[in-house]
Parts: sequence; structure tokens; C-alpha cells
Amino acid sequence: MKQAPLSGFSSVCVHAGHEQDPLYAHLTPIYASSTFVYDSAEQGMRRFSGQEEGYIYTRWDSPNFREAEEKIAALEGFGLTDESGRPLALKAILHASGMGALTTLFLAHLKSGDKVISHYSLYGGSEELFTKILPPLGIEAVIVDMQNIDQTAAAIKADPSIKMMYLETPANPTLKCVDLEALIALARQHNLVTAVDNTFATPYLQQPFAYGADYVFHSTTKFLNGHGTAIGGVLVGKNLEMMKGQVDKVHRLLGNNSNPFDAFLLTQGIKTLEVRMERHCHNAMEVAGFLDGHPAVARVNYLGLADHPDFSIASRQMKHPGAMLSFELKDGMKAGMRFIDRLQMCLRAVSLGTCDTLICHPASMTHYSIPKEVREKYEITDGLIRVSVGIESVTDILNDLEQALQ
Ligand SMILES: *Cc1c(COP(=O)(O)O)cnc(C)c1O
Repeated sequence: MKQAPLSGFSSVCVHAGHEQDPLYAHLTPIYASSTFVYDSAEQGMRRFSGQEEGYIYTRWDSPNFREAEEKIAALEGFGLTDESGRPLALKAILHASGMGALTTLFLAHLKSGDKVISHYSLYGGSEELFTKILPPLGIEAVIVDMQNIDQTAAAIKADPSIKMMYLETPANPTLKCVDLEALIALARQHNLVTAVDNTFATPYLQQPFAYGADYVFHSTTKFLNGHGTAIGGVLVGKNLEMMKGQVDKVHRLLGNNSNPFDAFLLTQGIKTLEVRMERHCHNAMEVAGFLDGHPAVARVNYLGLADHPDFSIASRQMKHPGAMLSFELKDGMKAGMRFIDRLQMCLRAVSLGTCDTLICHPASMTHYSIPKEVREKYEITDGLIRVSVGIESVTDILNDLEQALQ
């Protein structure tokens, strides 16, 4: 069957990466098989030497991984071209989790003595990689305020062992943003490899490759899967030689692979990415507007509100302000726990990006073990509530918040 040209984002979500099944199943079946067979020794030789396309072993590759990978690569590169005006070619490698994909990224690029420059307010797991796992390997993170471009430039100039710039925007859980265009341009002047955690935005809202990023990383557990059915991660790169070489080597040898069932679920989830994100963002704007005027609420952090300090960066580099928001209750810890306990439809859970609205109270949950003075430096105050706004009918979300706030 001839693959029709796909002009719209949702058509790419639905069709990219799909290959006709030899038995004419509509969806690619789940290849629950650890290994693949050969017709002859000759064929085995051709497969191993790369002369013949074909699957060998599921730690390396599987038809289910490939479908999800090609979809994600097509979406991150949607509408983008390379220096010579051709469609931007990208390769994605699926991983067991977001953390697995990050491990591959860092270990494929950094060696003892190298440093990575990054900013405050990163996903907790990424920060722990920087503080607990990489330093004993001789790899250090230099953390600066990357909203200050001059300070970032000075830090890079002062330390030639900085080899990579790692960005997360919007960041978890404060929704702070950094300027992709300015920072990636700066990194390129100094020949740093650049990588962006695009988990909160998804390729529908933001495309870091448009600014020249080398890598985009996702926890596919969140909006890409969209239904909370599987843990996963993906690393997308534009240096194809590196992706097929060192990056794939590290991914295979660390056993960072996904599995066919989770990859199947991810593929189905991505098909509705655009419709879900439109609804997520619409609902989030309504929720932010409602909370903004509520007497029990001291402050609302949503990138769609003009008083958010990063409103202008977000409106420049994101299509919509996203589905994540946080707000601060006037009465601190007690009010936070009481609010969480009173919820009736919205769910009390960490994680994000599912069809269901998920609400958490960082001070009593994710950040409970972190001393108050420390977490307050990261703006995690006692009354802070984080919301991943779902795709339910928005009236029901507003009604639940209203009764829980009373
Ligand atoms: C969840 C998350 C990760 C880690 O991904 P896992 O799939 O949980 O391993 C990294 N970055 C961000 C922004 C996340 O939300």
C-alpha cells in the first residue's frame, strides 16, 4: 500500500510509523516474542551485518517499538526542515522509562571530567541523577539561573569542561520556562550538545528542534501515552550517525529497552494527542480563571495567565499554555491536606498527563521528606497544590474544586 502524504498534525498522530500487517490486522499486533528467526545461516549473517533489514532480538528492536518511535520522530519534526530545506530527519529510541532515556542520553555523551549545565527547578528524578548518580562517575552538573542569559554565557565561558546544556521547559512543578531560542543559540556558539525535556509541552505545543536542539527527551508515561497505562521514555535525536551508533549502543547494553505491550499502548495513545491536548489546554485555562478569582486561593501559577512571570516566553515558544497548573491556598499545610481529602471526582495522585484530572499536594506527598526551608527555595510552599487538568467536562472539574475549597 502506498503511504499517502500527511499534511496535518493529527494525521501524523494517527498514521505515521504504521506498516501494513502481513495478516491484514488493522493494528500492529503485540509481538510478544523475545527473538526472531532466520530462514538460513546466510540470512542470519545478512541481518547481523546490517545488509538486510529485519528484527533480531527484542532488547534491540521490535515492530511495536518501531511504530511508536517513528510516530514520535515524525511529530517532533512536524513541518521542520534541515539546513538544505529538506524535511528534518530524526530518529527516536524508545526506553523502559523517562529515566532510562535520560541515562542513555548522559552516558552516551558524557565521560569522567565532563560537565552538564542546567537550571533550577528540574523534575525530581533528573535532579537526583545530577546530584547522586553522575558525580561518582566524575560527571558534574553546573546549575545556574538560565532565565539570565548573560549569567549562563559567563558560566559556559568560565568552564571549558561543560559539554552539554540540559533544559526542561515548562519545568516541574513550578512551570518556570527558559528561552529555547536564546539558550540553544548560545550553546551552539560554544559547541555544546543541547537536550530538552519536552514532557510537559509535547510536540503539539512546542518543538525544540525548531530552535536547533540536538535532542528532545520525553517521559512518554505522561501526555504521549495520555491514559496512564504504561511507563516509558523516548530519546529523539537529529545526529543520525550518533543515534544509530553510540546512543543505540548505550541503550542496548544498559538494557534500557521498552517492551512490546507498553509500546503498543503508547502507539494507540499518541493517535489522540492533538484532540486531547486541545481539550486539556482549554480546560486548564477555565480552571485557572476560576481559581484566580477564588477567595481561598492566594496565587495561581498558569502560563496562560498574563501575570505569570513566564507568560511572554511561553506565548512565544508554545502553541497553548499546557495542561499543568499549580495554586497556593491561603491557609498552608492544613488547608492543603483538607482540600485534597475533600476531592470527589478529581483523583489524589502524583504523575500527570492522563485523561483524568490528577491533583497532588507536594508538601505532604512528593516533597514531604525535604526540609521546609529547602523546598520553599524551590517555591514548594505548604499550601501549594499541583493540578494536571484532565479532559473531563470542565463543569464537573470546576464543581469538584469549588466544593473542596469550601
Ligand atoms: C515523569 C517525568 C520524568 C521521568 O519519567 P519516568 O517515565 O517517570 O521515568 C522526567 N521529566 C519529567 C518532566 C517528568 O514529568
